[in-house]
This record gives sequence, C-alpha cells and structure tokens, in this order.
Amino acid sequence: MNQNYKRILLKLSGEALMGQYEFGIDSDVLAQTATEVVKQQQSGTQVALVIGGGNIFRGAGLAQGGIDRVSADQMGMLATVMNALAMQDAIKKQGVNCRVMSALKIDQLGEEYSALKAREFLSEGEVVIFAAGTGNPYFTTDTAASLRAIEIEADLLLKATKVDGIYDSDPMKNPDAKRYDQLGFDEAIAKELGVMDLTAMVLCRENKMPLCVFNMFETGALDKIVNGDKVSGTLVI
Ligand code: UDP
Repeated sequence: MNQNYKRILLKLSGEALMGQYEFGIDSDVLAQTATEVVKQQQSGTQVALVIGGGNIFRGAGLAQGGIDRVSADQMGMLATVMNALAMQDAIKKQGVNCRVMSALKIDQLGEEYSALKAREFLSEGEVVIFAAGTGNPYFTTDTAASLRAIEIEADLLLKATKVDGIYDSDPMKNPDAKRYDQLGFDEAIAKELGVMDLTAMVLCRENKMPLCVFNMFETGALDKIVNGDKVSGTLVI
C-alpha cells in the first residue's frame, strides 16, 4: 500500500497521447500510460484521471477558424470523451475496472458525473476517468482537473507535462531556466508561471489542493511521487 497518497487525480493533456503523431492517439503511448495508472491502482492507490482533448480539438483554435466559441468548446469537450474512451479501453485490457463519468450527458458512452458516486467507485478500486471537462465552454481541462480533485477529496493533483516541473522561465527557450522543487500557489499565480491556467491554480489555492507537476515520460516518476520519493518535479502548495 502506498503510504503517502491514498487518492490521486492525474491530469494528462491530450497532446501527451499523441506520441510521435501530430494528431490523435499513439497506441503505444496509450498502453504505456495505462500501465502506469494500473500499477498505482494495484498498489492500493485510488486513481482518477482527467484527460484533455488538444490532440483532437481545442475550442479556441476552432473559434479562430470561424466556429462559434460555444460550439467549438463543445467539440473540444467531445474530444476529451474520445480520449477517455480510448484510455478506458486500455486500462480494462489490463484487467482493471475503469469507468468513464461525463460532465455532459452521453448515456451510452459513460455515466453522468457525480462526485459522491465517483468517490464510491474509487473506494471500490475502480479507476475513474472524468470526461467532457467541466461541461462548460470557456473552461479548460486543467480547471476540470482541479475541480474534480477537490470534489473527490483527492490527496494530490498531478499534472503530467513534457517538462519535469515548473521553471522560472521557459526551459525550451532559456538554457539557464531554473526548476522549482517547491513553490507556493501565491508565487505561481503572481508570476503567472505558465503550467496550469490561472483559474485552475486559484481553485487549488482556495481549496488547499496540492499540485505536483512532473514529466510523465520519466520512467517510474509517478510511482516515486506517490510513494513520497524524490523525483524531478515541482510541488505547488
Ligand atoms: N473544454 C471546455 N470546457 C472544459 C474543458 C474543456 O470547453 O471544462 C474544451 C475547450 O475547447 C478545450 C478543449 O475542450 O480547448 C480540450 O481541452 P484542453 O484544451 O484543456 O485539453 P489539453 O490542452 O489538456 O489537451
């Protein structure tokens, strides 16, 4: 049994599922990610997931192309449902029960979101994927992840990114950028350290939800974090 975190919510961006492709889902990355999730579930940690939709559609981009923003965001939310279904399948193939709960009513594909029911499923050892973001346009899946983590009383919100934490400047552009091991929400918000959108950060701060930003592709990183071992990543509290 992992001692440090009993219940976690892992936020994956849609792009994380693209792997080597420029659109859609890389089945190897999907299976690899599912393995990491299943490993946590099997060692006794309750795992909930929020997956973005950026590998398929983002509302803002579609709106720039002329689609009404509300419709565009609804398309983005549907993209998150597609990713959720793919991940549910990958997790189930590894022998673990996995349920999709959607913020939009799509009865045939998953059940309607309910925080209390989600907590029950998690307590029973099912992996729960929260699909369709918050169900509202003009929000992001980062905000959905913060909100759901708070609602299900997770011990930690984990955001998997391509870089291994939060830096004082963009490490892709500045070779001298320094990574924070730990950071307060006040500082992250004041400096707009761009890793989660501000709404998501403020929600976490107001509800004392710790956030860990880490590199999903660092082998065993998730395991180490959940076990309280040192890993390159940033804890925001
Ligand atoms: N979206 C939305 N409301 C939400 C969550 C998401 O309207 O509560 C839409 C929005 O258009 C967004 C898209 O779904 O661009 C995909 O989500 P996001 O951009 O957060 O995905 P990620 O960048 O994590 O892949």
